[in-house]
Amino acid sequence: MIKVAIDGPSGSGKSSVAKAVSAKLGIVYVDTGALYRSVGYYVRIKGKDPKNAEEVSALLPEINLDIKYEDGVQCVYLNGENLGDKIRQPEISMYASAVSAIPAVREFLLETQRSIARKNSVIMDGRDIGTVILPDADVKIFMTASNEARALRRYNELTEKGVEVKYEDVLSEMIERDNNDRSRAVAPAVPAEDAVMFDNSEYSLEESIEYVIKLIEEKTGVTK
Ligand code: C5P
Repeated sequence: MIKVAIDGPSGSGKSSVAKAVSAKLGIVYVDTGALYRSVGYYVRIKGKDPKNAEEVSALLPEINLDIKYEDGVQCVYLNGENLGDKIRQPEISMYASAVSAIPAVREFLLETQRSIARKNSVIMDGRDIGTVILPDADVKIFMTASNEARALRRYNELTEKGVEVKYEDVLSEMIERDNNDRSRAVAPAVPAEDAVMFDNSEYSLEESIEYVIKLIEEKTGVTK
């Protein structure tokens, strides 16, 4: 079994690359951001303040999250409901980022993430996979790209899904969210000491996928 950790800021291409690599290598893709988004979504529908640790912690016992794979796509079920694209709204991104700074939330999601990696070969994307969730991962990559490249990718992704947004808003929200994620006290979104840094501003998606597969092959001997 192999474990691949891909961390980095939003829009760096982690999830597109990880999804493609998982399909090519036949290993499980885990989008850990979806878990934080699901908690953020629940806090939002309950009308609570996502920055208030006490209010958010009090809601955690009411939350039951299940990850299922349907036609190879990861689906997160919250108390039995498949949340689908509801967690992809920009507002939910901000809720996710706020609740993710609360230690009780991170603790709450820890075992769900680790148990998948115990049972399967995985490629897991997030912010703290190489540092906290899978510190013994076989391959650790920290993916980055320029702010403009990342905002443009996120903008295209959202508009393709029919979400109406302005590029400037996507850029400023992305910068705010990255600052929150990088500067929080618990599990900040920083590279593990032994992570390979990969700036893909100038890479196409295909080139990024090839780069990551080559790295996995070199480090683990696993081939396509
Ligand atoms: O990856 P995605 O943009 O979906 O993540 C949403 C938010 O969840 C991030 O901005 C971050 O605050 C949080 N997150 C995290 N740790 C992870 C994955 C996501 O704190 N491993």
